[in-house]
Order: sequence, then structure tokens, then C-alpha cells
Amino acid sequence: MIVAIDGPAGAGKSTVARKLAERLGFRYLDTGAMYRALTWLALREGLPLGDPEPLGELARRSPVVFDEVGRVFIAGSDVTAAIRQSRIDQVVPVVARHHPVREVMRERQRELGLQGNAVIEGRDIGTVVAPDAAVKIYLQADPEVRAARRQKERPDIGADALATDLRARDKSDRERMQPAGDAVLIDTTGLEVDDVVTRIEGLVRERSLATS
Ligand code: C5P
Repeated sequence: MIVAIDGPAGAGKSTVARKLAERLGFRYLDTGAMYRALTWLALREGLPLGDPEPLGELARRSPVVFDEVGRVFIAGSDVTAAIRQSRIDQVVPVVARHHPVREVMRERQRELGLQGNAVIEGRDIGTVVAPDAAVKIYLQADPEVRAARRQKERPDIGADALATDLRARDKSDRERMQPAGDAVLIDTTGLEVDDVVTRIEGLVRERSLATS
């Protein structure tokens, strides 16, 4: 069974998806980490971020690998911490918007995620990567709350710059951020992580009962 968790930055996707996967004993796939790792590599190689084809080729020859404790590797480097820096936040949508890049990533995401049980988080999981997912969730939250959550994870950037970055990223991600028509929308603004996880867990259990 696939559980798709989509939504904008700071809506709580990673924390919720990771905990949910742990509770259910499902695999967890963070598709944002894949776009982030490719962006890190493109910057290291000095590739122009506006050129779709070379970036698509780079993606094809440099698969992103996750180990069993969730570390992220690309081209032989452990980029787990490096991909969470604000310089990556700022440019990842520029890389992620190119079709050749998305084609490679989506193909891999399907390979990695669609065997057995998995919780997959991203922007286009319920709409494109796994349109047949048994449970589709779209998380959202007020912009101030999303910025405040992000601030805790980004000590390298001031609050105003972070809010501006988040707005810019929302704008460029918007075309890939539409909720699937059959997604359950959850506003996490005033909710604890555990409450959100429990709610989704309930939906997953209901769904498994209905299909068993
Ligand atoms: O979820 P996260 O903030 O780590 O995603 C980083 C970026 O990767 C997003 O801002 C978006 O540009 C891109 N992304 C995407 N499609 C996905 C996941 C992430 O375009 N499925």
C-alpha cells in the first residue's frame, strides 16, 4: 500500500511521514531529498541551473541513494546535512522544474517507492508519481507557522530572509503543488505531530480493512 503525503515546505510533511512510516512499519521515501541532492551536485559541478538537458543527464548518471538510517548520498558523497542549507532551499525549485530532471526522478521514485508498503512524501506524489496511492494526504499550514517551523531547522538564515525564501519557493513550486482531487486536506497549523500521524494512521487502517 502507498501513502502519498504532499504539501508545501514547513507544512510538516517530513516529520509526519517519517513517524507514520515508523508506526506502520512501512518504508519511507523523501522525494524532496532527491531534488535537493541533485541541486547540490549541480552546484558542485558548476552546471548552469537553467539548462534542462545537462541537468537531466546529471540526474540519470548520478542516482540518489538512501541508506537504512535515512542518510542521503549522491556521486559517492554523504549530503544528508548539506542539502538542508538555505542556499539549496533557494535554488532547488529552479532545478526541479526541468522536465528531463522530473522524468528521471519520477521514474526512480516509482522504482524505489512502489514495491510493497511505503509512505512517500513530496509535491506531486498523489497526482503524478503514485496516482493510485491508497491514501493521499495534502498537508497545509499558515505561512507564519510554516516559516517559524523552518526557522528552527535553519539557524544559518534570519527570520525575514527565510520568510521571503519560503514565499519565493511557494511561487515557483505552485504548479506542482496542486492537491490531488481525492486527497484528504489536513491543516496542521494548530495540531501536534502525533495528532496528525494518528489521524492518517486511522485512514490507512480504515483503507486496509476496506480492501482486505
Ligand atoms: O520537500 P522539500 O522542501 O525537501 O523539497 C525541496 C524542493 O524539491 C521543493 O521546493 C520542490 O522544488 C522540489 N520537489 C518537487 N517535487 C517533489 C518533491 C520536491 O519538485 N516531489
